[in-house]
Amino acid sequence: MKVNFLDLKPKEAFRYDEIMSAVRGVIDSAWFVRGEAVSRFESHYAEYIGSQYCVGVGNGLDALTLMLRAYKELGHLSDGDEVIVPANTFIATILSITSNGLTPIFAEPTYDGLVLDMTKLEALVTSRTRAVMTVHLYGRCAYSQSLSSFCERHGLLLFEDNAQAHGCVYEQDGLMRKTGSLGVAAAHSFYPGKNLGAYGDGGAVTTDDCDVAEKIRSLGNYGSSSKYIYEYQGVNSRLDEIQAAVLDVKLRHLDEDNRRRHEIASFYYDNIRNDNVTLPSRLSDHLNVYHLFPVLAKNRDDLSDFLKSNDIQTICHYPVPAHQQECYKQYAGLSLPITERLSREELSIPIGPAMTDEEVRYVTETINAFRG
Ligand SMILES: *Cc1c(COP(=O)(O)O)cnc(C)c1O
Repeated sequence: MKVNFLDLKPKEAFRYDEIMSAVRGVIDSAWFVRGEAVSRFESHYAEYIGSQYCVGVGNGLDALTLMLRAYKELGHLSDGDEVIVPANTFIATILSITSNGLTPIFAEPTYDGLVLDMTKLEALVTSRTRAVMTVHLYGRCAYSQSLSSFCERHGLLLFEDNAQAHGCVYEQDGLMRKTGSLGVAAAHSFYPGKNLGAYGDGGAVTTDDCDVAEKIRSLGNYGSSSKYIYEYQGVNSRLDEIQAAVLDVKLRHLDEDNRRRHEIASFYYDNIRNDNVTLPSRLSDHLNVYHLFPVLAKNRDDLSDFLKSNDIQTICHYPVPAHQQECYKQYAGLSLPITERLSREELSIPIGPAMTDEEVRYVTETINAFRG
């Protein structure tokens, strides 16, 4: 049996038909940018996340970058301000900070939780600290009451990178709140492989702040809010009509897709048994939408080779942390032992709504047969 890392073909014919007819609708309307499909998706997605506003942009990196830039244009952030960010995140999170002239302060995750270690934050605060960018990495909720009170105590803005956690829910005082609605603003990516993925690039920012939403819309449209009048030196970063139409259909199936991810993850947690393979801490269902299913292994490369020789595709997220990348030479001296250990030991095994029970069993049995 061959198991791909992620299969993006619609698994049921009815979804294929739904998506094709949505795409056809856009083509027939002959309106491709800044039209009704985008407005409709933005309002559905804002409602889904539980935010007042949603602004569609070109991709997840632009969502992050324009979100931070809007706070700069509004005077809430300035050059050289420090933003605390998990060191083991995808490079885009860090790029959005540095490209805005802000300084990333790399925070360690916990080894078995994989997201921000809340106990290590206090020591990172300086007089220049202005914000925390939390990242719900792998689909795991990286928000907590203690993160929120930490931000309040130090007067910090809390941003979320929700690229990997569409549909994840945090329960607070009996209220169910989605990730993407927990801080002042959140960036979302709709890259095809994400839980909510387009058929190309796409992204969005959600926020309850009207000024922020307006700024982002203007910045992503050349810096203009009325035609041919430019308030900012902006960029062109817009969600297009076809992607919005696809996303609107896929949004209706997101919870169902995430439920399938939960079933697969439960099977992995209940059945993977190998002394050479560690599973991350198991969160209650609503706190994890299993964008990825990471496992940890000292002999990670051997495990990956072994699975490959059995026709199972895996990917490491991420083999080289940002502070050890060529493009961030200035941070090469930092020592971040947990982040560095994770970059050596992490391996993501197949998970996705289209995986069959046979595939899940085969992956499990093969991992159990691995002899470190
Ligand atoms: C995918 C991703 C991004 C970037 O999204 P793109 O749409 O690919 O630009 C940002 N942050 C995280 C954590 C991601 O996984």
